[in-house]
Amino acid sequence: MSQKTEKHTFQAEIQQLLDIVIHSLYTDKEIFIRELISNAADACEKLRFRQSSGEAIHQPEVDLKISIATDDQAHTITLTDTGIGMTRDELIENLGTIAHSGSKAFLKQIAEGKEKPDANLIGQFGVGFYSAFMVAEEVKVHSRSYQADAEGHSWLSEGSGSYEIEGAPDWPRGTRIFIKLKEEDKEFAQASKVESIIKQYSNFVPFPIELNGEVVNKMSAIWTRSKNEIKDEEYNEFYHYIGHDHEDPVTRLHFAVDAPLDIKSLLYVPAKNMETLGLARSESEVHLYCRKVLIQSKAEQLFPEWCRFLKGVVDSEDLPLNISRESMQDSALMQKLNKVLTSRFIKHLDGMAKKDEETFYKVYDQYHRFLKEGVATDFTHRESLSNLLRFESSSLDKGKRTSLKEYVGRMKDDQKDIYFLLASSRDTAEQSPYLEVFQSRHLEVLFLFDPIDEIVMDHLGRFDEKTLTAAEKAELEIEESNDSTTALSEEDAKDLAAWAKEKLGSKVEEVRVSTRLVESPAVVVDHDKTMTAGMRRFMKSMNQESGPMTLDLELNPRHSMVSKLHQMKQGNELLATKVLDQLVDNARLAAGVVEDPKTMVKQLNELLDQVLTAQKS
Ligand code: ADP
Ligand code: MG
Repeated sequence: MSQKTEKHTFQAEIQQLLDIVIHSLYTDKEIFIRELISNAADACEKLRFRQSSGEAIHQPEVDLKISIATDDQAHTITLTDTGIGMTRDELIENLGTIAHSGSKAFLKQIAEGKEKPDANLIGQFGVGFYSAFMVAEEVKVHSRSYQADAEGHSWLSEGSGSYEIEGAPDWPRGTRIFIKLKEEDKEFAQASKVESIIKQYSNFVPFPIELNGEVVNKMSAIWTRSKNEIKDEEYNEFYHYIGHDHEDPVTRLHFAVDAPLDIKSLLYVPAKNMETLGLARSESEVHLYCRKVLIQSKAEQLFPEWCRFLKGVVDSEDLPLNISRESMQDSALMQKLNKVLTSRFIKHLDGMAKKDEETFYKVYDQYHRFLKEGVATDFTHRESLSNLLRFESSSLDKGKRTSLKEYVGRMKDDQKDIYFLLASSRDTAEQSPYLEVFQSRHLEVLFLFDPIDEIVMDHLGRFDEKTLTAAEKAELEIEESNDSTTALSEEDAKDLAAWAKEKLGSKVEEVRVSTRLVESPAVVVDHDKTMTAGMRRFMKSMNQESGPMTLDLELNPRHSMVSKLHQMKQGNELLATKVLDQLVDNARLAAGVVEDPKTMVKQLNELLDQVLTAQKS
C-alpha cells in the first residue's frame, strides 16, 4: 500500500460551502464542538450497533468514548472517538463530496437568500463536519475503520480548494480530528470554555466525553428511557438541573410517540408561576434536541405562547432531515410538533382533572391565567382548553368549582344558555341584583372572580352548543309570584319610568320597567348589548378605550321603595327627584360603575338633609 500523499480537489459545491463557512459565519462559532461531538457519538452508536448484530470488529476490547484535548499554548483542540471510523474511500466520500445529504440544500437555501448565513444552520443541514472550518486554520482527520482488514488514513485540509490523503497504518480504531485554531478563535483551546460548551450542548450524549482526561457529561438523557424504569427522584433531579429550580415540579409529562412524528418528550410544570411573583414574562424553557444533542435551547416555536411556563425537553429524530427545506421558525414540521405537543399537554391536564383533582387544582391555581390566555388566543386548542376552565357557581357551596361540562350536565331541559356573572367576590356575586331573576327561576349562574374571565367567555362564545351569556345581558323575566301588595300597576310603572327618564335626562339612555328584579329597587345595565360593567373595568385597567358608557335604568315595580317614589313624585317632586338620583347612584355602585364617588356623597348628604327637614315639619 502506498504511503505517499494524494492530493484531491473538493467538489465545487463543497468548496462553495467551505467559503461560506470560512468567510461568512461569525456568530455561534462554538457549535463546531457540538457538531464534532455529535459525529463522534454517531460513530460510537454505529459501532455499538454493528457489534450487537454480530459483525467482526477491530479492537473489540476498546471502550466507546469521546476524548477531547485542548492545548492553549499551541492553540489546538483535538477530538477523538473510538467509534466506527472511516476507510480511505469513506473519507473522500464523506468529507469531500456533495453526495452527502445536506450540503446541496444548505447552499440552495443560502443562494435563495431565505436564510442569512448562520452557524446554527450548519448542524440543521447535516453538514456539521465543515463547521470546524469556522475556527480552523487547518483540520487534520485521522481515521481507521472498524472493519478487520481496513487501514488507517489521514485527511488534511486548510479549507481552500483541496485536501490531502495519506496512509496511517498503525492508527487505532476510530477517528481523531485535530484542529489548529485561527488566532482569533484561540479561546476554543481553553479547557474551561470547552467544558461549558460541552455542558450546554452535549451534556446528555450517551457516551462518556472526557476533557483532558476527565469525564464532563454526567447527566443521562432520561427522556429517552422508558417511564417505568425511572424513579421520581431521578425525574426531579433532572428537573432541578434543566429547570434551574430548587423546588420539585407540580407535575410532569413524559411520553414517546412515533406517529405522526417521532417525539420523545419530558415536560414539567414548575410549582410556582414566576409571572405572579411580579417577575418578568416567563420565557419558554423547553429545549429541542435531536438524538440527545441540543438543536435549540428555549425553542419558542415548540409550544403556543400560553404554554410559556413549561420546562423540559423535546427530542425528535425527524428534525434535521426535514428542517433543511424550510427555516426553523415557520417550518411545517415545527407546526406539527407544536400541535402534537400542545394537544398532549392539554390531554395530560384533562386526565389529571379526573384522576388527581388535587394536583390539577395546584396547577390550575398557579396557571389559570395562561390557560385562559390560551382560550382567548389559541384557536386550534380553544375547545379542548375550555374543558379545563373551572368556576364557582350559584349551585355549589362557596369554594367548590365546576367545569363547563358539569354545568351543562345540570342545565334544565329548556335552558339554552350558560350564564355567568363577574363579581369581585362570592358575597358580592350572591348579592348582585343581576342574580335575582336566576334565583327566582332556579337557574345556575357561574361566578367569575377574575377580570379576564369575562373576556375569555366572550372569546369562547359557546360551549357544547350553548351560548355563554352574561347574567346582566340575559333576557329573562322573574317567575311572577302571587301579586305583591306593593306592586305598581302597569300603567303607573310606565308613568314612573317616563318621569324618571325626563328627570335624569342624559344621565341614562333609557328607563325601563324591570322584569328581572326581586329584592333590588333598581339596576343599571350597559346600553351596549355587547358590553358589561366588568368588561369596561377590565379594558380600563388595560388602558383600552371601551367607548362612552351609556346606561339603561331598570326600575322594579314590585319594590315598595319604587311604589313610594311614584307617590312622592306627585306630592314632593323635588325630593322625589333627589331620591331618584340616589337610586341611580346606588345601582351604579352595585354594578361597580361609579364614576365619581365625591359627587355621590355630596348628593347623599343633600338627600339626608331633606329627609331631616321633612321630619321636622
Ligand atoms: P452528518 O453528521 O449530518 O451526516 P457531517 O458533515 O457532520 O454530516 O458528517 C459527514 C459524514 O462524515 C457523516 O455522515 C459520517 O459518515 C462521516 N463522519 C464525520 N465524523 C465522523 C466520525 N467521527 N467518525 C466516523 N464518521 C464520521
Ligand atoms: Mg454531523
